[in-house]
Parts: sequence; structure tokens; C-alpha cells
Amino acid sequence: MLTGKHILLIGGDARHLEIIRKLSTLDAKISLAGFDQLDDGFIGASKYTMDEIDWKTLDAIILPVSGMSADGWIDTVFSNESLTLTINQLKSTPQHCTIYTGISNAFLDQLQTQANRPLVKLMERDDVAIYNSIPTAEGALMMAIQHTDFTIHHANVAILGLGRIGMTLGRSFAALGANVKVGARETANLARISEMGLKPFHTKHIQQELKDIDICINTIPARMITARVLAEMPLHAFIIDLASKPGGTDFRYAEKRGMKAMLVPGMPGIVAPKTAGQILANILADLLKSEEEEDDQDDA
Ligand code: NAP
Repeated sequence: MLTGKHILLIGGDARHLEIIRKLSTLDAKISLAGFDQLDDGFIGASKYTMDEIDWKTLDAIILPVSGMSADGWIDTVFSNESLTLTINQLKSTPQHCTIYTGISNAFLDQLQTQANRPLVKLMERDDVAIYNSIPTAEGALMMAIQHTDFTIHHANVAILGLGRIGMTLGRSFAALGANVKVGARETANLARISEMGLKPFHTKHIQQELKDIDICINTIPARMITARVLAEMPLHAFIIDLASKPGGTDFRYAEKRGMKAMLVPGMPGIVAPKTAGQILANILADLLKSEEEEDDQDDA
């Protein structure tokens, strides 16, 4: 339980409703800033403006998945208010007050360093990335079905990268009967692809390997699907680029050649905001509970 813990959520989206629900069930005291347009009355959660927050009693601050913008603004879909977090507000919190964010940037990193408060970047955690790979792969499947006029079954599908997302994609498309090949560069990854019953290829041979592909899904955050590669691919091939912006595809050339190629960031929040919220809520609850246990051990 999180009885006695005071947690502040500043901004967020539908995923944060799951976090509020979970933390509320665990009996935390929850303060919300940037939620004035939220109709749900959560038990144990109270709405405040940033000026009304009791900073000195906070144990944790939860920011949106996007953290803060490059100039320090915090996104919220539940308010028209402009939200930011100042160094003075952070410095008013107890030394142990931990900031949780999805990702960070130079602005937030600097704020954290100046205030000297712990910062946890949830999206950098392996467990979060693996759980999130499930809605991401389901989103890729949805797109593949929506944007093609053939079945996934017996389609030639190439997946680029055998990381957290690549592995889930490989399993999911193979389970639907696609002919799946996966491109990687490490020998251990090529061996794992083979062990999974999929066809491995080294990414240095990408041009040759994508010549007969119906669907290509990129998870490698580097320019892989170049004009040279695209020029050899079938015109009907559909490219789903999941890698972080700007993706790994030469979209200009794909468009020029009349090929369908899409960069699709943020799949978990789009296709399964409830599950994506539960993933974050469960990890946050575990992290906050383990902090509580450490505090108890220190006191014993
Ligand atoms: P990951 O586990 O780090 O996997 C990335 C893979 O790319 C690794 O296996 C890595 O292999 C490989 N790679 C990197 N550079 C390469 C290169 N030059 N040549 C060949 N392989 C290379 O990352 P992930 O969690 O699967 O995420 C993949 C991407 O999707 C990231 O950009 C992430 O930000 C993004 N993402 C997108 C969504 C969405 O909804 N679209 C959701 C979550 C994450 P090595 O082991 O050889 O380095």
C-alpha cells in the first residue's frame, strides 16, 4: 500500500487516468494539477492549481509521458491552462521527492540537476519497453490489415531490427501465418531469429532482401530504407516505420515512387491507451512501493 504517500500528477493524457486509479486504490494521497476539465471524481484525488500545491509534503511528482517541452511546458489534455514546473517549486519538495517522466530532454535534465531530485525515465526501462511492444505490435498489425488488400497469412513480411519491438512483431506476424524475415546486424540476434523459426538476414544485405516484400516494418532508429533500397522494392510494398522520429525511411523518395510508407509514433497510446496506462501504473506502483520498503528498512 502507499498509505501516507503524497503524489502529484502534473498534466497527462488518458494513460494518467489509469495511474490515478491504481495509486488511489493503493491509498496514496493524490494531488492533480492540469486536470480541471476532468469530470471523473477519483476517490482520494484532489485538483489544484500549481500555486495551491503543498510542495513540502510531496513524495513523488509524475509528469506526462512526453515530460516537458524544449522550453519547459507540460502537456495536458484535461486543461487549457499552461503548465510549467519551476526550480523553486522543485527545491521546495523534500530531498527524497522523485520525479517520474516517460522521457526527458535537456530542459528537464537541467531542472533535475539544479534541484538535485531523483529523476526516473520510465520509457527507458526495459520492462516498460517490452510491455509496450505488445500494443505497438498490435497497432502495426492493425495498420497492415487496414492498408493492404491481401491477407497477412502468406504475405512476405520483413521486420528490421530484433529489439524489444522487433521480437514481438516477429512472433505476432508469424502467428498469423506470414512468411517473416528479420534483419539484424549482431550474430547473436541472427541466431535468435533462426531459433524463433523466422528467416534471418544481415541488414547489410537489405537491398537484396527487400526485393520480394509485401510489408516492411522498421524498428531501427537509423536510415535503413534508403532511396536505393526503395528503388528495388515492389511498388505495392507497404512500409510501416515504427522507429523514433525521423524514422528510418526516405519518405520523400517513397512518395516520389508512389509507395505507401508511414511513420507511426506513439502506437500504445493510440491503439490501447487503457493498457498503456495500466503498464505505466503497474510499474509506477512497484517503484513507489519499493521506495517505501527501502524507507522502512532505513528506519528499522
Ligand atoms: P531496441 O530494443 O533498442 O531495438 C532496436 C534494434 O535496432 C536493436 O535490436 C538494434 O540492434 C537495432 N539497430 C540499431 N541500429 C542499427 C543499425 N544501424 N543496423 C542494424 N540494426 C540496428 O528498441 P525498441 O524498444 O525495439 O524500439 C525500436 C524503436 O521504436 C525505437 O526508436 C523506439 O523509440 C521506437 N518506439 C516506437 C513506438 C511506436 O509506437 N512507434 C513505441 C515504442 C518505441 P543492435 O543490438 O545491433 O544494436
